[in-house]
Amino acid sequence: MSSPPRQPMKQAAQTYLRLLARTRPCLGRLLLAVVFGGMFGGSIFGMFAAARGGMSRIFGGTATPLNEAASAWVARWYAGGLDHDGLVTGLLLALLLFFVILRGVGFFLSKYLIEWVAQYVILGLRNEVFARILRLPLLYFTSSRTGELMSRTLNDTQLIERGITEVICDLVQQPFVLIAAAAALCITDLRLAVYSLVLFPVCILPIRIFGRRVRRHARAGQERMADLSSLQQEVVSGAAIVKAFGTEVREEERFGRLSHDFFRRQIKITAAKAAMSPLIEVLAAFGACAILVYARRTGLDLPSLTVFLAAMFFMYAPVKRLSRVHLFIQQGSAAAERIFAILDTPDTVCDLPGARELAGPIREIRYERVAFAYGPGQPPVLSGIELTARAGELIALVGSSGSGKTTLVNLLPRFFDPVSGRVLLDGRDLREFTLASLRRRIGLVTQETILFNDTVFRNIAYGEPAATREEVEAAARKAHAHDFILAMPNGYDTVIAERGLLLSGGQRQRLAIARALLRDPPILILDEATSALDTESERAVQAAINEAMQGRTVFAIAHRLSTIQRADQILVLDQGVIAERGRHEELLARDGIYRRLYHLQFEPQTMGAPSASHSPP
Ligand code: ADP
Repeated sequence: MSSPPRQPMKQAAQTYLRLLARTRPCLGRLLLAVVFGGMFGGSIFGMFAAARGGMSRIFGGTATPLNEAASAWVARWYAGGLDHDGLVTGLLLALLLFFVILRGVGFFLSKYLIEWVAQYVILGLRNEVFARILRLPLLYFTSSRTGELMSRTLNDTQLIERGITEVICDLVQQPFVLIAAAAALCITDLRLAVYSLVLFPVCILPIRIFGRRVRRHARAGQERMADLSSLQQEVVSGAAIVKAFGTEVREEERFGRLSHDFFRRQIKITAAKAAMSPLIEVLAAFGACAILVYARRTGLDLPSLTVFLAAMFFMYAPVKRLSRVHLFIQQGSAAAERIFAILDTPDTVCDLPGARELAGPIREIRYERVAFAYGPGQPPVLSGIELTARAGELIALVGSSGSGKTTLVNLLPRFFDPVSGRVLLDGRDLREFTLASLRRRIGLVTQETILFNDTVFRNIAYGEPAATREEVEAAARKAHAHDFILAMPNGYDTVIAERGLLLSGGQRQRLAIARALLRDPPILILDEATSALDTESERAVQAAINEAMQGRTVFAIAHRLSTIQRADQILVLDQGVIAERGRHEELLARDGIYRRLYHLQFEPQTMGAPSASHSPP
């Protein structure tokens, strides 16, 4: 696993601001969070003042202003017989507890509010990304990207959450802590505070430097480890090649070099890590000794000394947290960048302004000089496609795998638009119609049948949730699925496990056909399954397909001989162009691609026999 490439700081900041802009609806909560963050940080000051006052009452020491105020207050309000000194001490300790509780409440509320805002932002992002994914152009869903898309919706939103919560929490709380602790230092002993605040960064610096070293080597170490394991994997899976080319020694040396580099880095990490805690101790001891010397010289009392050291201690966390804020910003904005990339993907296939509903019968479908490529700079997948399909015709597309058959039919429901040329319905460009009304008129049966983890009924009615029982049953009958559905435990209410694992391949296909037929579409796109079915299922699917084709204009990516033989036109695709066209007999009579394909695919029994002997039916 390699770490994601770092963004330039400026770009990261811009992305992060765009992310922050999404917290705008929660501005009130954020402002409250700042107030409570101030309460959390500021109460530290009160805590130290009360602690110092209380301790100087108990252990003796210079009277602090708070001390005197408490004493005056008790004298004013209470003249009874109780011990005055005890009451003042009690009051100061109560004050200490009050500030501790205030600090706790401030922490809780600011953290809660910020977490709320972060979750709210994530909620919006997650839903928007999902909605966007649903509407992304089909081009986006190549297999290599599927995993990436999944990880983006889930992992990246998680990273963003941390990027928002940690950063805002730290920014809202820690500066107050820092200021309050520094103020506590200053009122305890101004001169010592100034010395310490100047020397504090000097002491922290070596610790930060060591920490950075560890992180740098750890990152490089991880990369090295990844190299090592991929090299090992290569050598194992390519063992035959290594042996055949006699590269054992070379691979061994390569591995040795990487391995040694990993070793070196591990040692450096170990050294830096091991040096860290003694270094901190020594630095702290130097600091403590210096402060003690100062106390001896100036007569600083024990309560002040204690509070001073405690306040110094409290300053470390904010410094550490604030110094790593930029890391979280960077991580969060890298994740946000990927999420925004999805949200920003332009809608290439969408309703044009003024698009009309597609209604009424469709008499003719025409492809006019259609060319297509998957993305700019990509080689054309289709070029110069001309075809006319009249209502009720069966158009069979044949050609070797990768010749462009799927791409050609996918232009019809506008999964993507041609790069040049047009697809026309009764002389009108597809793009003049609304997508929804166009797709509603096209039934699609794909090779891989996608079934959802739901009842048979709802799987058939997937595109038509309002369909009645009768309509669904009628569609299932046409698809020759009714009988096997009734034989299932709960008939139409049987839940199909994910991906239809309970069903045979043939049954799945018939359900898919039923789903396409439910809308009674005038146009049917049929990608015939290539995988072999047993004779029984094959016959049932064949019957379903034959019935499905009745009265429709059908584009079939044909793998069945019977479909091809019945076709009104066969288009033979070869590398994106229509190389031959005609009816089965005409094409077979020619000595062309079709004839070769035909003998390869549809003549299973004549292995080795002279193929030309086959006569068309
Ligand atoms: P067929 O259906 O005849 O097997 P396709 O229409 O699926 O052919 O593919 C035609 C060509 O387009 C192939 O070279 C294929 O690699 C390429 N192709 C298909 N889908 C994509 C895609 N989403 N992105 C890039 N290239 C693609």
